[in-house]
Amino acid sequence: MVALIAGNWKMNGSLSANEELLGALAAGLQGRGAAEVALCVPTPYLAQFRTLADRHPALQAVGLGAQDVSAHAGGAYTGEVSAAMLRDFACRYAIAGHSERRSYHGESDELVAQKAARVLAAGLVPIVCVGETLAQREAGETEAVVKRQLSAVIHTLGHCAGEMVVAYEPVWAIGTGKVATPEQAQAVHALLRAQLKAATPHADGMKILYGGSMKPDNAVALLAQPDIDGGLIGGAALKAADFVAICRAAG
Ligand code: PEP
Repeated sequence: MVALIAGNWKMNGSLSANEELLGALAAGLQGRGAAEVALCVPTPYLAQFRTLADRHPALQAVGLGAQDVSAHAGGAYTGEVSAAMLRDFACRYAIAGHSERRSYHGESDELVAQKAARVLAAGLVPIVCVGETLAQREAGETEAVVKRQLSAVIHTLGHCAGEMVVAYEPVWAIGTGKVATPEQAQAVHALLRAQLKAATPHADGMKILYGGSMKPDNAVALLAQPDIDGGLIGGAALKAADFVAICRAAG
């Protein structure tokens, strides 16, 4: 399967910083391998990405993504951004259920599932994040937590479940520098794959990304695992050399 490396800039960037970062990425990504690359940028910068992609052909192959989306189609939802608006900017991806949305904004499994459904209905691909906290892992609840989170999305998407990308992001590894070992990550990815297999005939072709302090020095071992099909990259996506190195490690 072709790997997917998706950067998540979170709430970072500025017009000038983005111009510099995207210019460096365009240079670094030239002549790279087969891995798919995506960048989930803050919503105000979607248009800037499009403009810069016209200037740097290497960016044209990068899938543009959003970091969140409204669960509603449109209307009186001040501050929200609909999936159709993301489509206007030729977005290919939208993240749903990042742990920072779940924990800081109280997003439930059901809300995340509705967001994923909106993304799919607009013709984009949802990157649905699941993952346990440290307390949940230590209490032996990892399997139950990720299964519950994924199950809500599978239930809502129904026969379209095979069209999403799943990202396993242990909350204790996000932005902490504590990365899951390849064995720990693979064990959860295998569980998720089995759950997807029970729900859709397309499970073997679905991408399950790992996210949580993925860096150039640990990417190769993580990406070598049979059920790890790419990465969702936070901090390292803000450094062109690191992000390019991870993309190259992915093939
Ligand atoms: C993320 O935010 O999805 C993430 C994986 O962040 P980091 O790579 O910084 O841990």
